[in-house]
Amino acid sequence: MSATRVLVLNSGSSSVKYQLLDMRDSSRLATGLVERIGERSSRLRHTPLGGPSRERTEPIADHEAALKTVAAELAKDGLGLDSPELAAIGHRVVHGGRTFTEPTVIDERVLAEIERLIPVAPLHNPANLTGIRTARALRPDLPQVAVFDTAFHTTMPESAARYAIDVATADAHRVRRYGFHGTSHAYVSRATAKLLGRAPEDVNVIVLHLGNGASASAVRGGRCVDTSMGLTPLEGLVMGTRSGDMDPAVIFHLARVGKMSIDEIDTLLNKKSGLVGLCGDNDMREIRRRIDEGDERAALAFDIYIHRLKKYIGAYYAVLGTVDAIAFTAGVGENAAPVRAAAVAGLETLGLAVDGELNAVRSDEPRLISPADARVKVAVVPTDEELEIATQTYALVGEESD
Ligand code: AMP
Repeated sequence: MSATRVLVLNSGSSSVKYQLLDMRDSSRLATGLVERIGERSSRLRHTPLGGPSRERTEPIADHEAALKTVAAELAKDGLGLDSPELAAIGHRVVHGGRTFTEPTVIDERVLAEIERLIPVAPLHNPANLTGIRTARALRPDLPQVAVFDTAFHTTMPESAARYAIDVATADAHRVRRYGFHGTSHAYVSRATAKLLGRAPEDVNVIVLHLGNGASASAVRGGRCVDTSMGLTPLEGLVMGTRSGDMDPAVIFHLARVGKMSIDEIDTLLNKKSGLVGLCGDNDMREIRRRIDEGDERAALAFDIYIHRLKKYIGAYYAVLGTVDAIAFTAGVGENAAPVRAAAVAGLETLGLAVDGELNAVRSDEPRLISPADARVKVAVVPTDEELEIATQTYALVGEESD
């Protein structure tokens, strides 16, 4: 029997998320998560297909121990890493710089390049590298593929990717817009074209990935032409804990006048800003509940979130010239009907509207929520980054073995 399974690994600094997929029907044979790696109270949750989850808390010292634990859990379900049916491991890698424009089979050269990119992704690439190295040590013979969060955005023109700062300084330090969530933007823009019954090459889409992290992208004919995250995921929309756009001079001001250190400002803008900074909550469900109870801080946080979102819809409408659809995705985009309604409210002259009844429907399926005669379709398209990573990995490994 030919190998049809792909293990998708998403290695963070203290966690490993995984899914084992069968590419014949995209089914999840197992999914799971190891959290708090390196602490005494590390937690494992493993869910085999159709079965109850197995959870336990035990010390898991490092990524190597975490992956061995995952392998042992998979083996209990007859899905061990030594199975001949395992075709490849697909790794999420956050930063591929300008080098990696496509998913790439991992070898020493690729590892060295991901390492060279650590200065532009100091939080993410080291953890991704550890995950890859550990998985390679466990199965050195198995093809392993890196799928980069930045890859989909490498088609951006220089006019969108380059910041208006001194070119020599920018180039010396590789300062430019890279964008993130690319796997999601790629998947959702393609799924939106499918929902419209058209080829991705014929469709212009604005994708709004609204999760705890949030980003917008303008996609022309299947290729990204602009995105809201930049050198790092800090730029752009208001997020759960990140500020998104603001005058960069706020940083100088906080350093000079507020006497804050660079690290303190980094933590403030990445972890203590956005919705949580504005109202103390970053979960949109809680914010909506507080608004319903008349909480003014929550209402203002919501308004600031929507105001920024609207600015990006307008900006990307102008960048694209013609827009066929706007797609909402990720935790907030897929679930928060009031966010979707507020984001397009008042934009009827741009051909944008949401049908109240369609917007209120809860579903895991891609769907249209605009009125039937809408000039620009508004869609809700659940994202599936793991499936996209597995699909890209399998396509590459399949091609290689042909
Ligand atoms: P993600 O990063 O895509 O997992 O999204 C997580 C965020 O989605 C949470 O922080 C919530 O703000 C939001 N979210 C999840 N479920 C709901 C829901 N039912 N209604 C509103 N927001 C939700």
